[in-house]
Amino acid sequence: MTPSPRLLLTVDYESWFALSRRHDFIAPEARYKLDGGYSRHALDPILEIFGDKKATFYLVGEMVGWYPELPEKIQNAGHEVGFHCHVHRRLNTVAEIEKDLTASADWLKKYNVRGYRAPMIHTVEGVYPLLKKHGLTYSSSIYAPTDTVINKDGIYEIPVSTLQLQKRQTNFRAPRHMTPDLLIMGEFPYGSSFTSGLFPRTVFRIIERALKSGKSPVIFLHPYEIVTPPNFTQRLSADLIHNPLLYSFTFNKSNFLKDLLSHFPTSTMQEYISGLQ
Ligand SMILES: [Zn+2]
Repeated sequence: MTPSPRLLLTVDYESWFALSRRHDFIAPEARYKLDGGYSRHALDPILEIFGDKKATFYLVGEMVGWYPELPEKIQNAGHEVGFHCHVHRRLNTVAEIEKDLTASADWLKKYNVRGYRAPMIHTVEGVYPLLKKHGLTYSSSIYAPTDTVINKDGIYEIPVSTLQLQKRQTNFRAPRHMTPDLLIMGEFPYGSSFTSGLFPRTVFRIIERALKSGKSPVIFLHPYEIVTPPNFTQRLSADLIHNPLLYSFTFNKSNFLKDLLSHFPTSTMQEYISGLQ
């Protein structure tokens, strides 16, 4: 069964400094200090923008320890709470992922969390049985063309959307990484906030066309792209000089988000998945 078309808006709810990979392995208290209350204060204005439109918020687990009210506030506003790893960093092995999942096990159970989004949309082959073991039912941790659904080891993989401009591949497997090869072959990752930062009107039109053809695009944004943190680019200046591509993630996309919300139907990922069953 194909669920009715809707925009699957997701927010990878991580702190402003996650853009810089330099803080991934510092002491947890130092990350808490760096956040400086940003992630607590950004939530209310973000929820206000969403109004009665529903979305999925993938939360970084250690932030639930910093601000325990986050998951409840998100759920009370009618949204889905998902998991964006306990600490926002690239996890390369099954052992690392298991340790990370275990660190957040308590709040995942308390809030009945079902969805997983790997940081940097990068995961490994063995993740799916692990997600199942920890009570999760789906993942959104790869890139693939709109409406691709993969059932892997009893877990649904609902990819972040791409548009195939040339080659019409139809068989996809998880995990799958967005490599320069895929870009060269004409696969356009419009679901990434990197892309919507650079080409918001193009992404809007791709979404519009996908919905008209009965498909349900998956796109993601970050809190710092909706509520700009104080002195954001100054604080990231060393990273931006080193990697100017990161600039796209610093653009404020709240008008883009408002545009999407006022034009298209949305739902949580879980609601979409219940239509697949
Ligand atoms: Zn992330």
